[in-house]
Amino acid sequence: MAVLLGCIADDFTGATDLANTLVKGGMTAVQVIGVPTGPLPDADAVIIALKSRTAPVAEAVRDSLAACEALLAASARQIFFKYCSTFDSTPAGNIGPVADALVRRLDCGFALANPAFPTNGRTVFQGHLFVGTQLLNESGMENHPLTPMTDANLVRVLSRQTDGTVKLIPFQVVEQGATVLRHTMTGLKESGWRYAIIDAVTDQHLLAIGEAAAEHALITGGSGVAMGLPANFRRQGKLPERGAAAAALPAMRGHAAVIAGSCSRATLGQIGYARDHAHTLELSPLTTPDPAALAAQALDWAKDKLGDHPVVIAASGTPEQVQALQAKLGRDAAGALVEQALAEIAEGLVARGVGRLVVAGGETSGAVVSRLGVRALRIGPEIDPGVPWTFAEPAGLHLALKSGNFGARDFFLKAFGV
Ligand code: ADP
Repeated sequence: MAVLLGCIADDFTGATDLANTLVKGGMTAVQVIGVPTGPLPDADAVIIALKSRTAPVAEAVRDSLAACEALLAASARQIFFKYCSTFDSTPAGNIGPVADALVRRLDCGFALANPAFPTNGRTVFQGHLFVGTQLLNESGMENHPLTPMTDANLVRVLSRQTDGTVKLIPFQVVEQGATVLRHTMTGLKESGWRYAIIDAVTDQHLLAIGEAAAEHALITGGSGVAMGLPANFRRQGKLPERGAAAAALPAMRGHAAVIAGSCSRATLGQIGYARDHAHTLELSPLTTPDPAALAAQALDWAKDKLGDHPVVIAASGTPEQVQALQAKLGRDAAGALVEQALAEIAEGLVARGVGRLVVAGGETSGAVVSRLGVRALRIGPEIDPGVPWTFAEPAGLHLALKSGNFGARDFFLKAFGV
């Protein structure tokens, strides 16, 4: 069976979010961790999860191209480059450089760019990205530890990252539906534009954009814009009318735990809720800037608390705490310190019988999944929009990888049905 949609995701939680969307649309989906070394699994959609969002540009481009080759070798009919619904990136990249490299490899000249995800409050209007009612650069994302987003104008943001050109397709055009959109994009491509940032405020807009891009070799965006893609394959007769439901996962077993490294507002709120409803440990990397010591502290704290009710271990800090650690160590070293500590804690918890683990934070999830030696995730039922339970292979445990800003306030408890 050929892969219909071959996806390259720039982080782990983003990959799961995309897989979840495709499964809900009736496609079977498997998330592969890292550039694949062997043949790809059999599924309608294969999502290769990279850790390329904040990697050096050259490394991100190299890994993304290698992932693209693997997908093309599996006869993928369309390539999807997935990034964050808050367009997480820096002026150096990596969205622009990776997209540029894929456009060249696929020789397609043009790709749409759309991070909107209205269900989670991410909308694009006149090229400006909103998180709920706030512009991106006033949403808290301006304080992100690794990819501070200080400009909500995506045409400007992407223009800074690409050697190509970026044009806006505004709301007024999107409102006219798929056919007008398709012609508009064809026109832009023929006039030499490389990217179109497309407005989208509702799921209807995303479905129209997806439909209009049915013949595109490359689509770039958040998981929202993938919503319309299963229908394209169905229309082409390549996907059964009533597609497979999310694969039932093996029965859950083992103790429950949550590890949080995200400093996003939603996660800080979830930690606040957990303080009142679960055993919660908040680590202080500033006081103890040593991964092994932090891990030892957490595992010692957790040892007599493990069971069906989750323990919550968080390194997440407020913007002031993050700044203090970064001032002391530098931005990358601060991130790496916390990621290493949390990965070690995850490994220790699994060794102590944790079989159900929620991880909050994209980079954090990447670090945890690498440490646990996970190679693929089968996608199961959704907990909150964009976050499903998954079954990790070959590790044999259930993981929910939560992008920092996703999930309701009670997510850490709700995930375990308590
Ligand atoms: P999100 O999904 O919210 O973007 P990530 O895990 O991708 O979350 O990114 C958060 C980053 O912040 C990680 O690199 C993490 O190690 C780092 N971090 C977590 N806690 C702290 C802290 N107290 N001080 C500095 N950096 C931190």
